Amino acid sequence: LDPAAAYKRVMLKISGEALMGDQGFGLHPPTVQRIAREVKSVRDMGVEICMVIGGGNIFRGLSGSAQGMERTTADYMGMLATVMNALAMQSALEGMGVFTRVISAIRMDEVAEPYIRRRAVRHLEKKRVCIFAAGTGNPYFTTDTAATLRANEMACEAIFMGKNGVDGVYDKDPKVHPDAVRYDEISYDDVFAKRLKVMDASAIALARDNNLPLIVFPLDEPGGFRGILSGKGTYTKVQG
Ligand code: UDP
Repeated sequence: LDPAAAYKRVMLKISGEALMGDQGFGLHPPTVQRIAREVKSVRDMGVEICMVIGGGNIFRGLSGSAQGMERTTADYMGMLATVMNALAMQSALEGMGVFTRVISAIRMDEVAEPYIRRRAVRHLEKKRVCIFAAGTGNPYFTTDTAATLRANEMACEAIFMGKNGVDGVYDKDPKVHPDAVRYDEISYDDVFAKRLKVMDASAIALARDNNLPLIVFPLDEPGGFRGILSGKGTYTKVQG
């Protein structure tokens, strides 16, 4: 492990939208490759990496159900969308020589490994990047909750939430309010009380109750993820 690395095992959560580039929808392979390079540079430090990728660039259960679809069916479609994103990330990483496993919460053995906790831990020990797909496998949850759940199960030291166009958690939306102030540190209770849009309530509760810190950082700058791992750059740390 590179002595500059502040963490040995981490969870990286990105939204599905982080993969769509400027297209407004779907997958943009050059963007996927750009993020894969960020992941590789942290893997090259010897850090063990778990990943959860959302599915919002392809399908969101809530918007499906708002248009008359049955909610749980729409949520399963959302979970399947995360599998597509995971496979795209796997392909980009392996193209760069990074060994990976896609591990699905819903069985689809031809495409991805089933989730078996001890097996996933073993992959991490062997420095394979583990991409956890299909969320928690349950409707009514989000991939933020999936990331928090798997981070706890894999004994990650922190969740890193990579954002596009924002370098942390602000007291109000910085895109709307120019006077918005970024927090260097904030507690989960304050995030909840102030209703800041960081993660949904179930993910916040799961992280807070298990003392899992969350680091919200910008994923647009090259080398940003590696910098944050070495304690450099701007970010917000949510803990306590
Ligand atoms: N989803 C789900 N259970 C989970 C994780 C995700 O039902 O454990 C569904 C849900 O419909 C959600 C969709 O998958 O809208 C995509 O995930 P999410 O909205 O978290 O993606 P992101 O916003 O991070 O791109």
